[in-house]
Amino acid sequence: MRYYDNVVELIGHTPLVRLRNVSAGIEATVLAKIEYFNPGGSVKDRIALRMVEDAEKTGLLRPGGTIVEPTSGNTGVGLALVAQLKGYRCVFVCPDKVSEDKQNVLRAYGAEVVECPTAVDPKDPRSYYSVSDRLAREIPLAWKPDQYSNINNPISHYETTGPEIWEQTAGKVTHFVAGVGTGGTISGVGKYLKEVSNGAVKIIGADPEGSVYSGGTGRPYLVEGVGEDFWPTTYDRTITDDIVEVSDKESFALTRRLAREEGLLVGGSCGMAVVAALKVAAEAGPDAVVVVLLPDGGRGYLSKIFNDDWMARYGFLATGSDTEATVGDV
Ligand code: PMP
Repeated sequence: MRYYDNVVELIGHTPLVRLRNVSAGIEATVLAKIEYFNPGGSVKDRIALRMVEDAEKTGLLRPGGTIVEPTSGNTGVGLALVAQLKGYRCVFVCPDKVSEDKQNVLRAYGAEVVECPTAVDPKDPRSYYSVSDRLAREIPLAWKPDQYSNINNPISHYETTGPEIWEQTAGKVTHFVAGVGTGGTISGVGKYLKEVSNGAVKIIGADPEGSVYSGGTGRPYLVEGVGEDFWPTTYDRTITDDIVEVSDKESFALTRRLAREEGLLVGGSCGMAVVAALKVAAEAGPDAVVVVLLPDGGRGYLSKIFNDDWMARYGFLATGSDTEATVGDV
């Protein structure tokens, strides 16, 4: 018999797949690391596991404990499935702008979800930051992982994602491209690849237009999970060689192409990262091996990026080829 003892053992060891069609005309090899193969459907399973196990080792999380985190998405799913296996309770706090569907995913995994008003200052006692701090104080044996300051976030990528990429490419990777949210992925993978290649691998961040990483002030953008309006401690600025700024329109157009042309139904931050990876690959030589990390799957975005009305409302459905493809589908 060959089986895994539990789903947590399925975390990591995600495949690399070549992007054949969207990279047409580019000589370099472009390989995507498909993180939706993780059991919770995103790259965040990796950090959830590492943060929980470290908290157990250091005594921050004890039997009967409760995980409290302000999260509405992928990190919540990762934490919920790790917590389930290990017998912890999860309370996630999220702003009320988060869709009912996303909240229901967390509830489906057995987590409790506390909704807070979006339209209040972060310092307001009703804000989701304040409420999660208060719950972490009030609930007995509560522990708040805080993915924006938890060093185990980048460490998980230094110990798993980075070595996987080096091994899967037999050390031939020349560039690594990833979107930057907490910065955990790029900082951890980047540190590992720099060390193992004596600095030869170039590390490139992809960032939504307006976010601080590419010099903005945090102007709103629609791509989810990436870009910030502050500098989290999980982001190590010394690791990235370059940051490529990508617009929502470019990100979403490429996200749709990944589904149609590569069979990869992935999220908007994946399209964003691939826009940056293709720019990098176009400038690199034929021997370059560009690895781009795709953080999650596309099912959570069906009513947005993959919905023509939503795309049209924001002026993202402009080009002839996209319109033609849509008509053909009907
Ligand atoms: N894409 C998505 C969909 C995410 O949820 C995240 C995590 N916030 C990222 C990209 C960025 O990853 P990181 O936090 O490691 O920078």
